Amino acid sequence: MLMPKPNADVLAKRDALVAGLRRIVADPEGVIDDKDDLRAFECDGLSAYRQLPMIAVLPATVREISDILKYCQAEGVNVVPRGAGTSLSGGALPLADGVLLGLGKFNKILEIDYDNRCVVAQPGVTNLAITDAVKGDGFYYAPDPSSQIACSIGGNVAENSGGVHCLKYGLTTHNLLGIEMVTMDGEIIRLGGKHLDAEGYDLLGVMTGSEGLLGVITEVTVRILRSPEHISAQLIGFPSSEQAGDCVGKIIGAGIIPAGMEMMDRYAIHAAEEFCHAGYPLDVEALLIVELDGPEVEIAHYQTQIDAIAKDCGATVSRISETEEERMTFWAGRKAAFPAVGRISPDYMCMDGTIPRSQLPKVLKRMNELSKQYGLRVANVFHAGDGNLHPLILFDANNPGELEKCEAFGADILKLCVEVGGVLTGEHGVGIEKRDLMGEMFSEEDLKQQQRLKCAFDPDGRLNPGKVFPVLHRCAELGKMHVHNGELPFPDIPRF
Ligand SMILES: Cc1cc2nc3c(=O)[nH]c(=O)nc-3n(C[C@H](O)[C@H](O)[C@H](O)COP(=O)(O)OP(=O)(O)OC[C@H]3O[C@@H](n4cnc5c(N)ncnc54)[C@H](O)[C@@H]3O)c2cc1C
Repeated sequence: MLMPKPNADVLAKRDALVAGLRRIVADPEGVIDDKDDLRAFECDGLSAYRQLPMIAVLPATVREISDILKYCQAEGVNVVPRGAGTSLSGGALPLADGVLLGLGKFNKILEIDYDNRCVVAQPGVTNLAITDAVKGDGFYYAPDPSSQIACSIGGNVAENSGGVHCLKYGLTTHNLLGIEMVTMDGEIIRLGGKHLDAEGYDLLGVMTGSEGLLGVITEVTVRILRSPEHISAQLIGFPSSEQAGDCVGKIIGAGIIPAGMEMMDRYAIHAAEEFCHAGYPLDVEALLIVELDGPEVEIAHYQTQIDAIAKDCGATVSRISETEEERMTFWAGRKAAFPAVGRISPDYMCMDGTIPRSQLPKVLKRMNELSKQYGLRVANVFHAGDGNLHPLILFDANNPGELEKCEAFGADILKLCVEVGGVLTGEHGVGIEKRDLMGEMFSEEDLKQQQRLKCAFDPDGRLNPGKVFPVLHRCAELGKMHVHNGELPFPDIPRF
């Protein structure tokens, strides 16, 4: 993975930078420069790629964040924001000549406001902690990434994270009301708030999914929902993945929007069952978990309809959860599927692409063919209702060349997603993982337009460089001029 070449001038002044950052951060342990201590930050969830940061900083106040960014901007130092480090696309991968800005100390819920149905939280609060804080009063926060026990709400905003319940309730962007953020030059800005619509351009929308490239999120206001009256999950088994894929499209086509509709294939079913004994049938090739919520009578009506559709598609097993405990057991296997797959292979790489639901049978079939062609197994665990695929490519990094083979296989899967009318990512972001594939989806002009937006927030490209864009243009090349202290940079370049 090619990253920007470390800047020798910055590396040469490392000691001075450590001293400068120590003057800003009050906690003496808040600036980390020891190699062994830095090891904790060397990668995120995409652990195939590792890099020690030059320095890690753990601020405790927004003022400290602002001063750190101002200082790094003045010193020409790049900054990588980091929440909980669970990103699967390498978005939080450190830079050898960069400061890693850890937001772990921002772990407080600031306000629960039932009248306005929202929660205000610091960015390091975990996703699940928001639901935990309000569930006693009958509320919850809908987007639920499978990593919700660990991932931070700031990271969720930066990645526009999804989860099982996003099919019915939307992604992070649909549940976000406001943020406070700090720009690279230290300015503290508020976007949105407790109200439902934001003034001016939709900058909140721009920040959602910006992968740490535009600003550091320091506070988040999210919408909370009333917990549903009743919830029920249904397990449906099929003799082939294609039939399960077909069923997904037909359920939505019939006008039913389940709260969640997840799919697992044979490898994933067996791994999950062995790991947590969820009671999954082992004689099927694919399993759907379809969850419905709402009034009991409505759920029963839809479940009868779903049963008929599934039978039509060739389902051989259908079981409805009888108790809340059984429903949670159905989900336990799905939620633990990633670590469970980790037990059947020394390494795996989790891909993330989105396709139109109707293309599921075709794409699953082609993926099996590619698996044979590359000689690597692939396990599928994914948000089927959203057409959001998560093929887990199994490999052994100890075998020379196998990581590269896995990368090529993954790239072919993502190209296939684009080819059938889908997109490169569903919820894990572009990061470094899909950076070099951006050209498959966007023209050079599209990419330049996106970089012009980046330049408007971060003219010197200091925030998280090397991520998302395959080639980073200087902002001057893109026609963006940043006037600093009345001085125009690149005075020789024509203005328009
Ligand atoms: C087992 C497992 C299951 C997962 N399941 C799902 C799933 O179902 N759905 C899903 O969407 N994702 C899933 N993920 C991916 C991951 O958990 C999400 O992308 C999550 O939102 C990342 O949050 P984080 O706090 O760990 O962010 P990090 O990994 O620390 O950072 C992710 C990106 O956000 C930026 N960033 C982080 N915090 C801030 C901030 N405060 N301000 C600005 N930029 C910031 C970083 O620079 C980086 O680019 C899964 C991951 C794992 C390991």
